Amino acid sequence: MKRFWGILLTLTLVSFPTWSQKSVLKMTVLSTGSAYPIEGSTIQGGSWFKKFKMTHPAFLFQHPKGTVLFDTGLGRTAEKQTQDVVWWARIATEFSQDEATNGPVADQLKKMNIKLDKIIVSHVHFDHVSGLADLPDVPVEIQPQELAFTKTKDASPAVFPSLFSEKTLWKTYELENKEYEGYPKSRDVFADGSLVLVGLPGHTPGSVGLFVNISATQRAFLVGDTVWNSEAIEKGVPKFWLARMFADNKPDEVLKRIEELQALHKRKPEILIVPSHDAASVDALKKMIGQDL
Ligand SMILES: [Zn+2]
Repeated sequence: MKRFWGILLTLTLVSFPTWSQKSVLKMTVLSTGSAYPIEGSTIQGGSWFKKFKMTHPAFLFQHPKGTVLFDTGLGRTAEKQTQDVVWWARIATEFSQDEATNGPVADQLKKMNIKLDKIIVSHVHFDHVSGLADLPDVPVEIQPQELAFTKTKDASPAVFPSLFSEKTLWKTYELENKEYEGYPKSRDVFADGSLVLVGLPGHTPGSVGLFVNISATQRAFLVGDTVWNSEAIEKGVPKFWLARMFADNKPDEVLKRIEELQALHKRKPEILIVPSHDAASVDALKKMIGQDL
């Protein structure tokens, strides 16, 4: 009988991923800004009479092996940085650092007494990397094709020189040939399955998404700007055409990514898919991790 329980215990430990045994990952959503565009500008077929609440989050992860920030949201100099945006695109980069948010990410981290080991960026658009300028001593992990993208004309108008300095400690990495949740390549950040990066090329060439596995019942997939509005995944539709032209580097590729997200949602409805800017999705994520709204 003892042997039976021993075998059962071994099988249980082997068949469950390590992250499901004990929750070692602590996640905190840091809100750095908000925006209230007309819904129709965020999704194909959206209403032109309704506003859509957008947020600019940074995601903090505390793990025994390190403290990591996924995206920075808006930084201390965001207002000044966006003066570099060409006039016709300014309306699309409007935001507010109002009372509904908690200020630039570097200030929030300072208040929390948090020292980062590294930053990983979903992609290099200004609203995701604006805060890098305030955290010059922290290594920033990025795929090589995304770093190369910052130097191309294609990256404009959401990428501009004032976002980066010579001091930015870029550290490139490649995804490994390890399938994860249907994605052919992945990177296990802490080598225990708690945080897993996958490629989401399309919005930008080196866009990545991050699977967050806190426990078997607390699973999320942060999908950056593949879509802005989570309804786009439910309906299988892209951004509004003008937004697509402005924001998506390869719109056809983005459509493929949306189909993949639809398939993932069908297969694993328990995984909460979170587009960075969809305030309602980010609130659902906060609820899932037990964070006050
Ligand atoms: Zn964005």
